[in-house]
Amino acid sequence: MMHFARQDIDDLLVLERGEGPYVFDTTGKRYIDALSSLFCAQIGYSYGEEMAAAVSDQLARLPFNTNWATAHPASIELAERLGALAPGGEARVFFTNGGSESVEVAWKLIREHFVARGEPRRAKVIARDVAYHGVTLGALAMTGVARFKDDFGPAPIDVWHVSTTNAFRAPDGDDPKAFCDRLLNEVEEAILDAGPDQVALIIAEPVQNAGGCIVAPPGYWPGLRSLADRYGALLMADEVITGFGRIGEWFAISREGVVPDLISVAKGLTSAYAPMGAVLAQPHVVEPLIAAGRTFRHGITFGGHPLSAAVALKNIEIFERDGLLDNVRTLQGHLHQRLDTLRSLPIVGDVRGAGFFWAVELVKDDRNTRFAPAERDRLLRDYLPRRLRDVGLIARLDDRGDSVFHIAPPLISDRALLDEIVDLMATVLTGSGEHMRLRAA
Ligand code: PLP
Repeated sequence: MMHFARQDIDDLLVLERGEGPYVFDTTGKRYIDALSSLFCAQIGYSYGEEMAAAVSDQLARLPFNTNWATAHPASIELAERLGALAPGGEARVFFTNGGSESVEVAWKLIREHFVARGEPRRAKVIARDVAYHGVTLGALAMTGVARFKDDFGPAPIDVWHVSTTNAFRAPDGDDPKAFCDRLLNEVEEAILDAGPDQVALIIAEPVQNAGGCIVAPPGYWPGLRSLADRYGALLMADEVITGFGRIGEWFAISREGVVPDLISVAKGLTSAYAPMGAVLAQPHVVEPLIAAGRTFRHGITFGGHPLSAAVALKNIEIFERDGLLDNVRTLQGHLHQRLDTLRSLPIVGDVRGAGFFWAVELVKDDRNTRFAPAERDRLLRDYLPRRLRDVGLIARLDDRGDSVFHIAPPLISDRALLDEIVDLMATVLTGSGEHMRLRAA
């Protein structure tokens, strides 16, 4: 069975090989992976042998051990590296197997934190509409996409969803200060509504993926930080996508000038050469558990697996050695500028994002009318997937919020490749506009 997919697929794309930023299907056809395998393959696909040597070395020494009552050098070294790279420079690290689990672990740690501090009533969360924080039931409670949740019964966590920071279509979107103030007022109202002594967490992504690379206006994150401080809640940046170079920083939150209490990561931590996630918590989140002599009541057998830890360490080494953050910093302006040229196409309503993480919002006409559900299905589930496949481009077509076309190229991409991606986007989007108009006529 396929993940997040209709189960009646009749022409499954089967990819069997990767090289640099490219993947190849079983017929040998080449595709530019402009989505880095769902925001994961930061270093692209050509480091397999180097990774294999790191894994082989680890396998020969210690193929497995846990991070329960014992530990092993690979996860200790990785925890030290991550703790030092995180904002504040001394985060504590708990390893998981992926993003959803990182969000769940963070939540349990937050609960243990407040129970240890004698504030057990703090059990509510402020999250954002349309945001995706994962699928396991606790993480799903924080996810703000109703149709992903409706079939699975009452949420185990009481979550209050507030507006995203999407300036496109917002009445005050062209006035960043007014927009930011309104959004922060809404967060504060949600806290007051939920009960200020009952809110444990404010969670958000530095650049929200679902809904289309939604960046925050200046002052928004500092505002969240001060609201969390004022009302005694913790602040968490979900960096499952934005972490590890996606916007040219180890952690995207460092561009916002705040230190969140917790950060969740996965995907780019290993560039997905092995599955792994982690929660990075500021020392003051863990200290109450230590002071109270409490057990952290959460454990996952494979969390911090030595093979994944060896891969993550090698990934960080490759990032530093091959200058991946610098590559994104150097080319992000060029990519932005090239993507902005797509605005001249009638089907393009907005272009937004940061670093190597961008979305184009697709609209019906120059009044930015949204597509009706049937039209959107035809465009995003039928026409565009076929066209992308024809031209050899892998991108994400997303309708969790508005209709968006995402790209997140591998961080090794050079200028010529970024240009080629934008040229292919122009080709398929021009065709999409014509196709939709023709069908409407
Ligand atoms: N949080 C965010 C922001 C994500 O984008 C995702 C997945 O895309 C998750 C959590 C869940 O990660 P995973 O699919 O590894 O469970």
